[in-house]
Amino acid sequence: QPVIVAIDGPSGTGKSSTSKAVAAQLGLSYLDTGAQYRAITWWMVSNGIDLEDPTAIAAVAGKPEIVSGTDPANPTITVDGTDVAGPIRTQEVTSKVSAVSAVPEVRTLITELQRSIAAGAEHGIVVEGRDIGTTVLPDADLKIFLTASPEARAARRSGELKGVDVHATREALIKRDAADSSRKTSPLAKAGDAVEVDTTELTLAQVIECVVTLVEE
Ligand code: C5P
Repeated sequence: QPVIVAIDGPSGTGKSSTSKAVAAQLGLSYLDTGAQYRAITWWMVSNGIDLEDPTAIAAVAGKPEIVSGTDPANPTITVDGTDVAGPIRTQEVTSKVSAVSAVPEVRTLITELQRSIAAGAEHGIVVEGRDIGTTVLPDADLKIFLTASPEARAARRSGELKGVDVHATREALIKRDAADSSRKTSPLAKAGDAVEVDTTELTLAQVIECVVTLVEE
């Protein structure tokens, strides 16, 4: 029986590092759903779509073909065959992704894609995002909700993006989480049956061990 693990939480809580490592240790596939929302946002920006206009976003949401590679040792993301792993991490995409991901038509399409990827994972999958436990895979075998203090989250993100100052990163993170938590369609939220793990005082290795233990229980 394939095992399905949903890992949700705001940015900077260690979701991606944790999810990849847990998947690798347990021989499961891995899906970064944030990368999919970033990829569709990258396509909208590249094609000059007016991101202030949800109707314009909805009208073209089905056009780009987004493909995710689910090997935790080498996760990939392409749009219409182009590797966009780098371009989806720019500050421009990061600052615009919440507007695109709030559009219901976008969420419906990406959610369908996520469900079909999860259903096709032979040994099971670790899926990380914001609404996986609540909306995408409500029947997941294990749901984890990662949290951390705003300071810890900003410090981790600044560490990833070398040279960017912690204060600006903290403000941008808070703004993005607020937008993701307040949108009407499947906002960032903890599922009622999720296990909350506060990572503020934990090392990455400790978080990974904690989640692996929960999966094996
Ligand atoms: O995880 P990451 O920071 O790459 O996610 C980028 C953005 O994608 C989030 O800020 C959010 O707007 C959107 N997202 C979402 N639902 C998910 C995963 C990500 O709306 N399941």
